[in-house]
Amino acid sequence: MQTSGKTAFECTKCGACCVAPDIAALDKPLGLRCPHLGDDMLCRAYESRPAVCRSYEPDQLCKEIEAPTIEERVAKYLAHFQLEDEAERMKATGLTSRAAVHAAMKAK
Ligand code: SF4
Repeated sequence: MQTSGKTAFECTKCGACCVAPDIAALDKPLGLRCPHLGDDMLCRAYESRPAVCRSYEPDQLCKEIEAPTIEERVAKYLAHFQLEDEAERMKATGLTSRAAVHAAMKAK
């Protein structure tokens, strides 16, 4: 469907946008799963989710990263933004707080 020059995309409920990006409002580092994301790929904090989640709109990337598993979708999402290495470095810290991860990486 075309709307005012922009193509509208449906959310595929794939969960990748709740795992791949760095989300400051949730203190969630790049590449780590949001603790509110359920196994069904739906938000368990839907009514109280932060504004950044409320305003997120599906786009062409949602189609581009389609894959059978969440791991594959997240990998494709990170690759799209060339963030695979950074996500690996953050994961290697073993920290789950965005602020702590950034502080640890800055100290290196
Ligand atoms: S709060 Fe909900 S919508 Fe936002 S990243 Fe977490 S699971 Fe996704």
